[in-house]
Amino acid sequence: MKIRQQPARISTQAFVFVCIVCVLLVIMDVVLSWNAREQQLAEMQAETTNLAQAAAHQAQSTFKITDTVLFGMVERLEFDGTGMLQMARLHGFLQQQLKEQPHLAGLFVYDEHGNWITSSQAQVSYNLNNGDREYFIWHRTHTDRGPHIGKPVISRSTGLWIIPVTRRFNHDDGSFAGVVLASVRLDYFSRFYGSFNIGQAGAMSMALENGTLLVRRPYNAANIGASMASSPVYANYRHSPGRGSLIVKSIYDGVTRLNSFQQVDGWPVFVTAAFSRDEILEEWWRRTLLHSLGILVLVSILGLAGTHLVRQINLRARAQQDLVQAHRALESINATLQKMAAQDGLTGLANRRQFDTRLAEEFGRAAREQTSLALIMIDVDFFKKYNDLYGHPAGDDCLRAISHAIDDLVHRPGDLAARYGGEEMVVLLPNTDTAGARVLAERFCAAVRALEITHAGNPTSFVTISAGVHAVTPRPDQDAFATLVEPADQALYQAKESGRNRVMVSPHSL
Ligand code: GH3
Ligand code: MG
Ligand code: MG
Repeated sequence: MKIRQQPARISTQAFVFVCIVCVLLVIMDVVLSWNAREQQLAEMQAETTNLAQAAAHQAQSTFKITDTVLFGMVERLEFDGTGMLQMARLHGFLQQQLKEQPHLAGLFVYDEHGNWITSSQAQVSYNLNNGDREYFIWHRTHTDRGPHIGKPVISRSTGLWIIPVTRRFNHDDGSFAGVVLASVRLDYFSRFYGSFNIGQAGAMSMALENGTLLVRRPYNAANIGASMASSPVYANYRHSPGRGSLIVKSIYDGVTRLNSFQQVDGWPVFVTAAFSRDEILEEWWRRTLLHSLGILVLVSILGLAGTHLVRQINLRARAQQDLVQAHRALESINATLQKMAAQDGLTGLANRRQFDTRLAEEFGRAAREQTSLALIMIDVDFFKKYNDLYGHPAGDDCLRAISHAIDDLVHRPGDLAARYGGEEMVVLLPNTDTAGARVLAERFCAAVRALEITHAGNPTSFVTISAGVHAVTPRPDQDAFATLVEPADQALYQAKESGRNRVMVSPHSL
């Protein structure tokens, strides 16, 4: 049982061990891959934050410079008035400013009705009116003297998309006198955003704090001036103005991006910079797939090796079992062979070889221990005649019956009944003297007679035996055959001579 259970336990343990190693490998790979993904996203978040900061800085300085020009214009208009001469001077100033500020598409002055007073154009178009523009209406209805950034519009003078940055100027009594406008080129920002490497699906944008989109990369005219209030990025910006980052699906093109937004300091404007999540994780996916493939191969090899190991353990266990069974079978065969080699085939008594061996052993022991060793020699009377009368097979049956009768009377462990040859039997009796052996021999004779096997050739009409008895306490130098067997045989001969069916004790017997 032990041999059978142990390998089964070892093979289960090997199986469990291989499974645990495989599972640990997979878990380790998943954890490492996930960490690498988080790290990649964190690195890219730092990058989008930096980008947003750069864009915010650029927007701030652009608006600041623009407003400085507007402030100067308001100063002149309010102190110098709008007379012909002053306007001519202002026209020159505006043209000069336009040349120096590449981000400006134009500078304009409108009176309180929205009529053009002067502009940076070479030829001022006096017949135009901008009284309907959102920024104009805003200034007319608000006394606020600060700068105002309006919704992007297509310029009436240049046809370009522009962001209107405006200021109000007043009459001496503080009433509304008109508006100064600096139109900031939208493509100035587009070009700036285009100079960054933000991948194929990256995005950058600038919007007013009320959610009006000013400019966006990738460019789409339909988005300009539209509201991005429904965008999660805008919601996040409203929730935590200043700066922030989030991964979200774009409302414009459905691309999921890592966005960072940043408030433009001092202006009601914020900018965003974003990388496509798929592009950010492209390299990570490639590495993860490669890892996973490696792990898959490793797990497969481990699994195969484990299966092979478990199979080997099972095979060895089975081989061991087979070996044990074969060993047991061999032992049993050996025992049978040994028994057969020591047994007489016909009678089941010990055979001559076993008798010779035991005789030598017991003779030696008796000599060493100086104990008496007795031998009874038995011969069936008129057995030749029995064969002649009843046939050889009946003779064999008769021999078997006699053998059993004798064997039944031999009880002591050291005693040995053997077939000596033909119809002669011997009984070796250690620790037995002549008297004891004689008693036993008489019992043999009586037992055979009691079998009452009919024998017409025997004067008693039944099968009988004759026995010769001899006992000695041998000396070590004596020969067993000469000392014990021959005298017993002599006694047997005497028994035959004396008329058979009797026991004769050797005259030298002790
Ligand atoms: P005695 O009384 O003088 O012993 O006469 P006997 O006829 O028995 O003489 P002996 O002992 O010389 O005879 C031996 C006979 O025993 C010869 C043989 O036919 C017979 N015999 C010996 N071995 C076997 C055997 O294995 N089976 C059978 N059926 N007969 C055997
Ligand atoms: Mg004989
Ligand atoms: Mg005989």
